[in-house]
Amino acid sequence: MQGLQRAQLSLQWRVMAEDEIIYLDNNATTQLDPAVLEEMLPFLTTYYGNPSSGYGFAAKARKAVDLARERLAALLGCEPAEIVFTSGGTESNNAVINSALQFEPRGKHVVTSAVEHSAVLGPCQDLAKRGCDVTFLGVDQHGNLDLGELEAAIRPDTALVSIMWANNETGVLLPVEKIAEICRQKGVLFHTDAVQATGKIPMRLRDTPINFLSLSAHKFHGPKGVGALYVNRRTRFSPLIAGGGQENGRRGGTENVASIVGLGKAAEFAAKYLAEGKCGIRSIRDRFEKSVLETVSGASLNGAGAPRIPNTSSVSFEGIESPAALLLLDRHRICCSAGSACRTGSQEASHVLRAMNPSGDGARRSLRFSFGRFNTEAQIDRAIEVVPRVIEKLRQIAAPVGGNAISPVATAL
Ligand SMILES: *Cc1c(COP(=O)(O)O)cnc(C)c1O
Repeated sequence: MQGLQRAQLSLQWRVMAEDEIIYLDNNATTQLDPAVLEEMLPFLTTYYGNPSSGYGFAAKARKAVDLARERLAALLGCEPAEIVFTSGGTESNNAVINSALQFEPRGKHVVTSAVEHSAVLGPCQDLAKRGCDVTFLGVDQHGNLDLGELEAAIRPDTALVSIMWANNETGVLLPVEKIAEICRQKGVLFHTDAVQATGKIPMRLRDTPINFLSLSAHKFHGPKGVGALYVNRRTRFSPLIAGGGQENGRRGGTENVASIVGLGKAAEFAAKYLAEGKCGIRSIRDRFEKSVLETVSGASLNGAGAPRIPNTSSVSFEGIESPAALLLLDRHRICCSAGSACRTGSQEASHVLRAMNPSGDGARRSLRFSFGRFNTEAQIDRAIEVVPRVIEKLRQIAAPVGGNAISPVATAL
């Protein structure tokens, strides 16, 4: 115990002295790329014209919005005209669900999954309260959907199928290309919440029968409060926000020019890194994951049996409670999360991990580490050193008192 305490102390001293945050929560949000900020600034200062105004000064802003649309279309493999800028992923999801039900007078049914982000689950639960039938498809222990079950869930009165591309908590990739094809054959609209997939995997919407796709800039090093909705050019769409004719009549309100410019620049970078395939996130993630799984006994990977995006590790640790782990990791300046950021502060365990293993307690024992291109190898070295010690410390504290580890941890430090 003495040795361990000494190790704890020296470890703490070193971490504190370096005074650097190790940000491993890139699925909650990402650092704004400095080059993105630079591209945005003139549109917060010099070029403040309204893109809808007719004079030359405003054309500067309008052209910048057009360029952002082209850059994003290049990342998605679609036409610029198929992009509607919004205030973010949440608005895009709400807009799709709203539109699909507007246009399908017979539509009284929506199919989605039990592991969606709250930005899909929330509006779907609202629909259910208003008398719409909603099917929440379950997943297996790896976080995968059963495509046969999905197909069987589609009814003649189904207005929309909405399935996320990549899960924000586990990084599990769902087979949206196959789901899109099933929906096309059944003549049902298909939406995917691609907030976590955008910029992390290649996309060619031109070749995929997806009707709607949601994305958000702050999940790929762009600014917060701006996102987009892809609406396939042959798909009818009814705006959620009525107003001026902005965004080709699909989203009212003066364009958030600087943020849209930032989204465009972030999309350009994402496309560049994807094409080069060498920004190193996967190797950083894999090195961290391999090391933690090898050094910590009773650690297991959530979603291990499924394809995953290259930046996420969701790990379940026997004998810990995730809130206590987060507290200790925070003392070591490591930012990560239990489940999704939206759940922080509430004691409710992750609905995603519960859906994957309803009888287990993995949801209360899991930590999500999500990496980004600004993470350095040195940060990963330190995380690889700190995480196993934190888990060991928690187990030592928890063992004698049997379970509630939160207060002993708080007093131990
Ligand atoms: C972050 C996130 C959202 C919400 O996007 P905002 O732009 O923050 O509204 C929606 N879906 C998923 C999967 C997310 O990770």
